[in-house]
Amino acid sequence: MKRRNFIKALGATTAVATLGSKRAQADAKKYKWKMVTSWPKNFPGLGVGAENLAKMINDLSGGRIKIKVFGANELVPPLGVFDFVSEGGAEIGHTGAYYWKGKHPACQFFSSVPFGLNAQEMNAWMYYGGGLELYEELYNQFNLVPRPAGNTGVQMGGWFNKEINTIEDLKGLTMRIPGLGGEVLQRAGGVPVTLAGAEIFTALQTGTIDATEWVGPYNDRAFGLYKAAKYYYYPGWHEPGPSLECIINKKAYLSLPSDLQNIIDISCKAVNIDMLSDYMSKNNLALDFLKKEDIKIKKFPDSVIKKLREISKEVMDEVGNHDDYTKKIYKSYYTFLKKVRPWTKISELAYLEGNN
Ligand code: CA
Repeated sequence: MKRRNFIKALGATTAVATLGSKRAQADAKKYKWKMVTSWPKNFPGLGVGAENLAKMINDLSGGRIKIKVFGANELVPPLGVFDFVSEGGAEIGHTGAYYWKGKHPACQFFSSVPFGLNAQEMNAWMYYGGGLELYEELYNQFNLVPRPAGNTGVQMGGWFNKEINTIEDLKGLTMRIPGLGGEVLQRAGGVPVTLAGAEIFTALQTGTIDATEWVGPYNDRAFGLYKAAKYYYYPGWHEPGPSLECIINKKAYLSLPSDLQNIIDISCKAVNIDMLSDYMSKNNLALDFLKKEDIKIKKFPDSVIKKLREISKEVMDEVGNHDDYTKKIYKSYYTFLKKVRPWTKISELAYLEGNN
């Protein structure tokens, strides 16, 4: 008996030793990854967020994962990021889910939708409301693991060269406003166009477009949009809290030991809050700057917002009922919004109204 136990124990020790050395091998393995992004390299907020994410993963892993970051068009065009990471051309990417509505209409719910969740509510849905599980399920069919990795907070409504007093003022207006916001503008009689960030200023200055939205004071100042339009409207009803995303090739993610997977997950979460804080702190500095320029910062009239909200509801009902899978995500998103909004109103909103 004793001898048998001894041999068994010896076997177990050998198994543990083998396991230990396998673990040591996995720990020693170095990964060299490429990150493709949809942003100009080091662009304020978005591009900086991607750089921060790569650096954090490198630092926290003690150099076991080294990530080289590529700006838009360095390896692939801004809108080529999804396919490139999905096919394994790069292991990881930083981008925005609203670019992928052509892949699946449900993608848009994981960035921002008109009159949808704000940044704080969006994070609550993602992390504690079932959003992230649905996001993973959706991206799984594209060989991708998605993680929220940044948020701009509520955006601005955009730059106009005339006052917007009624919904009629949007009729015939050519505006750079992509995605679902563009769809809403079109139904209000406007002409939405999609332009990459770098093309906006010239288009606005030469009159190719009458108006544009971009992000908020921090990014809009960087593009010099205040030199090409007189009226700066708020709020960004079309993008109330856009979540940016980190996408990881599924095979590459699964090839990592679990501690490195955790490091990626935690780094995405850290960058998610970091980018929002960066925007919050820089937007107000840029707003101070813009207030001194020869422009007017104006709020959309209530009647215009009300009409845009009605049209948005129509658009979202159509998008949400596109197919069974989108329906499931649409239902989760709006069920959460209906539950969380009463609390936002009696907490954040009531506090701000009483304290300005
Ligand atoms: Ca925008």
